[in-house]
Amino acid sequence: MLRPVASLRSTVTAPGLSPPLAVRARGGVRARRWAALAATAALVTTLGSVPAGADQASPERTADAAAPASAAHTPPGGPAKTPVAVGHGGAVSSVDPNASAAGIEVLRRGGNAVDAAVATAAALGVTEPYSAGVGGGGYFVYYDAKRQRVSTIDGRETAPRSAGSDLFLENGKPIPFKDAVTSGLGVGTPGTAATWDSALDRWGTKSLAQVLRPAERLARNGFTVDQTFRSQTADNAERFADFPASAELFLPGGKLPEVGSTLANPDLARTYRLLAKHGVAAIYRGEIGRDIVRTVRKPPVAANAQRTVRPGDLTTGDLRAYTPRSQAPSRSSYQGLDLYSMAPSSSGGTTVGEALNILESASLDRGHQSDSHGRTAASHRGGKGGKGGEQSGAQARLSERQFLHRYIEASRVAFADRGRWVGDPAFEDVPTRQLLRQEFADARACLIDDDKALTSPVAPGDPRHPAPCGSSGAATPTPYEGRDTTHLTVADKWGNVVAYTLTIEQTGGSGITVPGRGFLLNNELTDFSFAPIAPGVHDPNLPGPGKRPRSSMSPTIVLEDGRPVVALGSPGGATIITTVLQTLLNHFDRGLPLVDAIAAPRASQRNAAATELEPGLWNSPVRAELEALGHRFTKNPEIGAATGVQRLPDGRWLAAAETVRRGGGSALVVHPHGEVPNGR
Ligand code: GLU
Repeated sequence: MLRPVASLRSTVTAPGLSPPLAVRARGGVRARRWAALAATAALVTTLGSVPAGADQASPERTADAAAPASAAHTPPGGPAKTPVAVGHGGAVSSVDPNASAAGIEVLRRGGNAVDAAVATAAALGVTEPYSAGVGGGGYFVYYDAKRQRVSTIDGRETAPRSAGSDLFLENGKPIPFKDAVTSGLGVGTPGTAATWDSALDRWGTKSLAQVLRPAERLARNGFTVDQTFRSQTADNAERFADFPASAELFLPGGKLPEVGSTLANPDLARTYRLLAKHGVAAIYRGEIGRDIVRTVRKPPVAANAQRTVRPGDLTTGDLRAYTPRSQAPSRSSYQGLDLYSMAPSSSGGTTVGEALNILESASLDRGHQSDSHGRTAASHRGGKGGKGGEQSGAQARLSERQFLHRYIEASRVAFADRGRWVGDPAFEDVPTRQLLRQEFADARACLIDDDKALTSPVAPGDPRHPAPCGSSGAATPTPYEGRDTTHLTVADKWGNVVAYTLTIEQTGGSGITVPGRGFLLNNELTDFSFAPIAPGVHDPNLPGPGKRPRSSMSPTIVLEDGRPVVALGSPGGATIITTVLQTLLNHFDRGLPLVDAIAAPRASQRNAAATELEPGLWNSPVRAELEALGHRFTKNPEIGAATGVQRLPDGRWLAAAETVRRGGGSALVVHPHGEVPNGR
């Protein structure tokens, strides 16, 4: 089943995305994926295989966010920014061509997926300094091909050990959110360098010094500024101006960096050299750490600063005490596939998993044989325990309206439960396993009516005592979370896979650069609730000493019969969860090739009164159809920025990234080989 190549762009951008029903008409998940592969391969043929071009230091970053995918090419001096690549030897997908190239370089030199993931992340610290770097934290998910096992590292930032639940209160009242963002108070003990160290130590084959080399070179030589970087700088210019170290680095000559100019970061190059020489002890026990502490405790503001910048209480003792957590992944199943992701302190794994379980619940079938458009509208899923994936064509079909309705409602309900139950498990009694039980999802799916939208906030259920349509406690809204971060996905020739999401929280983090060190500090502690979300209701996400704020990061690896078939993740604060969920559904349920599943217009519902819609859905007739069910919508120009890899049945790797969002991503493979599979 080959979809005409010409349809790709319209599929990506068309309002009311309508995936090819024929793809879903017969066979299960395996068959649908073959159809998806065939379509993707056709796309690859048209674009041409993209040479990795991994060894260049200062490649161009494509500035034109609207450039069509077919414009992908290899410009002189660097790798192309291309949303899809297929071939052998391993794959890297990230938001940035320099970073993907760094990962490919390490794979070419014999490194494995873990080595390449750290190299890619370090390069993102150079080219995406507002989203990632050693001043932040993240979550690392690893599939070990030899052991056929998934492991994770929780490298989340922690509150200082002196922090209490009143961390963000003054005179008993929460301080303004924006003041907390740009402060020392919001800075958590960074976890990123410790995560790299732990991952390399446990699973890598190269030294930290070896994998930092491409990023160090990139920081020294500089990268070409593109429109996305300039816009992100503009969004932060006012606060950067208040911190001389940030202004010097990101506002050269007091101005926004020009598109096309080269931005070098010699301080960061030096920081990477120090890490290469002394290991991450330079941060956790050494001179870089002392500088971090000094900066947090007495933020170095300009004499004419426009704001009061609150200090934080981070100490060298906090840095010494920091340990990334090795922990079991969250595990859920969907259509016979096994999904591994981050367990708490991230809410990613439990919330995506619960929503998928809700969508699989038998209770969604009651009495609905056709929708108002006369299409067959039963379950699109196969259910648990081997029934999955081989349902008849009729059951595989849902109208777009019904698909989106159920997706939105499942997200809404899962977010209600996330808010009540998920926090740092070292401090809270988090019922991780129970949240992922099908019995609980069935009890929650009972709330969903195919003909009427729920009203938010929906009250949480009790996963410890699931009761159909039951609730446990008051309905509370979902608090605000930043919208930045970055995700990378890597696979190697041995079949190992990494999905890694890292962040400094808000775009530009705290806005505070550590003087002389070339990186921004995070504002991750603003992910805590400043006060209980609803008075009298337990909030698992209040600050505490050494506690991790709840995250939404959802780096996910999907296995079928114990082998990875897809891995993916996204930035976007709490919209990460819906982005990962929707992309998985687009690919596995709607039969879209991974790159199309990523590009498709998104909706995000997080137990809020209104669901956010990207323009592709906002401008679609399906919006009115959903409004007729009682849905309310707001427009969001851009939700998430996913990257992923896929193992093709013939053994090749496919890397996929955004076509347009954030200026488009960079998907590369070591040895491009773009022949079209024959389909199923
Ligand atoms: N702080 C967010 C989280 O951990 C990530 C930041 C973002 O994506 O904007 O979920």
